[in-house]
Amino acid sequence: MAIIKLDGYACERCEHKWVPRSKIDVLPTICPKCKSPYWNVPRQGKKKSFSWKNKKRDR
Ligand SMILES: [Zn+2]
Repeated sequence: MAIIKLDGYACERCEHKWVPRSKIDVLPTICPKCKSPYWNVPRQGKKKSFSWKNKKRDR
């Protein structure tokens, strides 16, 4: 049994997790799944309503 830590990203919006192919230095601009540019912004912030909600969530 081993604990594996993956260096990757998790989207705050759709909970999609992915591991970048290239270096991890550069943050992705958008989530590859839901295409949200706010994938790394926690939801708690009182921003305005979710414009990404138009997208259908398929899980
Ligand atoms: Zn996402």
